Formats: sequence, C-alpha cells, structure tokens
Amino acid sequence: MLKKLSLLVIYPISKFFCRIFAKNKLENLERFFIDINNWLVIRTIRKKPEKLLLLMPHCLQFSDCEYRVTGKEIKCKMCGKCEIKDLMDISKKYDVRLSVATGGTMARNIIKEIKPDLIIATACERDLISGLKDTVSLPVIGILNERPNGPCIDTRVDLCKITTLIDFLKGLSYEKK
Ligand code: SF4
Repeated sequence: MLKKLSLLVIYPISKFFCRIFAKNKLENLERFFIDINNWLVIRTIRKKPEKLLLLMPHCLQFSDCEYRVTGKEIKCKMCGKCEIKDLMDISKKYDVRLSVATGGTMARNIIKEIKPDLIIATACERDLISGLKDTVSLPVIGILNERPNGPCIDTRVDLCKITTLIDFLKGLSYEKK
C-alpha cells in the first residue's frame, strides 16, 4: 500500500514539480524514490525467498561481445571482459536465477515466466523507477547501475552490493515478527 502510494502517487507529483523547478535534480529524485522502495520492500520481507531473480540490463554486457546473453539461455563464454561472468558466478554460487533483459517488455515476460518471490533488479534511474512502477505489486529491490562509459554502454554494477544483499536475504531463516 505504502509502496503504491509512494511510486504511483507521490513520485509522479514530485516529478511534475521537479521538472518545473529543478529539472537537473530529477535523477536525485528518482534515486530517492528507489531508496524508499527498497526500504519498504526490505522491511516487509518475512522469510528467506525461495525463488530469487537477478534481473540485469543488457547494457552490462561488453559491447563487442558476440555471444547472446538475453533470452532463455545465457551463452556467456566467461571471458571476464564484463560483469556478466561475475553475475553467472554469483548465480551459481548462491543458486539464484539470473536473467538479462533488453528492456521493459522482456523484463516483464521474464518475471511472468519465472514468477520469482523476490527480484533484485539493476538499471539506470529512469528505467529502474519505470520498472518499479510497472511491477508495483511485486517485491523488487533496485540497485543502480554505474555508467563509466556513459549511458547504455558497457555499464557496471556494484557486485558487492548484490552479494551482500543476497547474503542478507539467504540469512533470513526465521519469520520476522
Ligand atoms: S564475460 Fe561473457 S558476456 Fe561478457 S564479454 Fe565475456 S563472453 Fe561476453
């Protein structure tokens, strides 16, 4: 309820005023609402999620890589030129599902097919907030990507944040009061 209120009511109103009075602060506003979303999701998790999905953006893949990493099978050859390899390692080590999506439609289809209990999603501020709004009734924790080469190309993600979060989630072996 609070999540819906925050993402579907307060955020659009804040965005409207931000566009008028502080357009250059829009990313900060988006980050703030992503943080609020994450806090609201984490405080409602009652137990260890059985089906955890790492939903990653295609722009993490090395731009010159010829192997297909989206779709049903990730055909990464583990060369280490991008973090898809590390995410594959994490997926294997923690026994969590990893999917790479090219955009919102593919992400929605993946979610529909896998039906995860909890999603850790990575994207830029704009895509992440849009994805959180689209999946507002699902528990999604958003982790922003890093863009050392500019938007949408050879992006990165803080792997430590992901593993710390999985460790925390996997450690939830009891029902919280
Ligand atoms: S780690 Fe995988 S996805 Fe990344 S460049 Fe190498 S083969 Fe391609």
